Amino acid sequence: MQGDPPGALLAVQGAGLGVPLVGGGWAEYVNLDHAASAPCLTTVAEHVARLLPYSASVHRGAGFASQVCTTLYEGARRDVAQFVGARDGDLTVFTRNTTDAVNLLARCLPAADVAGGVVVFDVEHHANLLPWRARAGYRTVAARSTLAESLAALEAELRAAPTALLAVTGASNVTGETPPLARLARLAHRAGARIFVDAAQLAPHRRLDMAADDVDYLAFSGHKLYAPFGAGVLVGRADWLDAAPPYLAGGGAVREVSTDAVDWATGAARHEAGTPNLAGATAIAAACRTLAALPPGAWERHEAGLRARLLDGLDGLDGVVIHRIWSDPETIPNSTGGRRTGDGAWQDAVGVVTFSLPGHDPARVSAYLSAEHGIGVRAGRFCAHPLLARLGAPGGALRASIGVGTTAHHIDRLIAAVARYLRVGP
Ligand code: PLP
Repeated sequence: MQGDPPGALLAVQGAGLGVPLVGGGWAEYVNLDHAASAPCLTTVAEHVARLLPYSASVHRGAGFASQVCTTLYEGARRDVAQFVGARDGDLTVFTRNTTDAVNLLARCLPAADVAGGVVVFDVEHHANLLPWRARAGYRTVAARSTLAESLAALEAELRAAPTALLAVTGASNVTGETPPLARLARLAHRAGARIFVDAAQLAPHRRLDMAADDVDYLAFSGHKLYAPFGAGVLVGRADWLDAAPPYLAGGGAVREVSTDAVDWATGAARHEAGTPNLAGATAIAAACRTLAALPPGAWERHEAGLRARLLDGLDGLDGVVIHRIWSDPETIPNSTGGRRTGDGAWQDAVGVVTFSLPGHDPARVSAYLSAEHGIGVRAGRFCAHPLLARLGAPGGALRASIGVGTTAHHIDRLIAAVARYLRVGP
């Protein structure tokens, strides 16, 4: 690795927080659990603090504060659409989170006997598996040990029966691997299907470009993108969303209501009944603006440096197994799924790394890292039970995930703590 070891790329809330250690004393908290929920960017926290004095009704009031709120809410849609590279005419619907967005899209799919089924890989987060399962024509493709073979199997499955939608992860929440979205979009479109990208883990790590990659729908959560909990987005083509029944029935989703009839709105409002989450939506937009303003390449370089440091460190320890889905990712270097880093290397994964210490219970190891070293990682099956079974870790594993506030020092602390655990035990 060249250059200075990476420091924090952006300021986040809670940086430098002290936590008590079980052996006595305090340590700076090391948060390596960004894939679950990320701390708020300082810019986001400042935005929310500035917004609160204006709390008033979005879309419904004539007062000044209400007008400010409506303007900010609709501006948030535009900022999010820009951040993900949406096309003119795409809708940006605010939801509660990614899970909510996937369920919304699942409700909007045209009938299976008209449009065909939904195809997914078996490596998905449950949020991108379970909402599709109830649908007729739902098919899973078992991921192979190489991405090239997996794409060939996917292509065959897409051709095997009519398909309305290919639903894929943009970045695995377990291994961080990023399949090539532009290629997947081509495969889907050639088979007459559309593509949905679960970008819950991709958006917090990469610039997105729906138009360039030809992605039809995309969703992510604010709480993983350095914004508070409670808001997410679904972005994508308007026709299915406008043709489907409203996700929720209620005020705001209608044009006209009489005693026995309803004229539902079209556009994002159709699926946003009720008072919207203004703070959540505009906080996501604030995060998008901050991330979009980073100098070109800075985000990718920061993360590539830290990911490489983490992998090198773990690799250097006897008794650590690092999990991957695919063994050949560098051979498919196009689209958002594989970008050249500042150092010229192809980056095929975001800063999410899952590993096991064979013979050791991941829950015990994570408890040790927290209690003895003040380090937060995640232990378990990461809402991806089929994938953990495929990786040979049906009982769970450990996951360390990097964010814009992560430093080389945080990575070194984790490596040293895992090494100590392996040497002397809990
Ligand atoms: N998809 C992926 C890849 C995820 O990692 C997650 C959360 O961990 C989700 C979907 C669900 O996100 P949320 O819980 O915010 O709905």
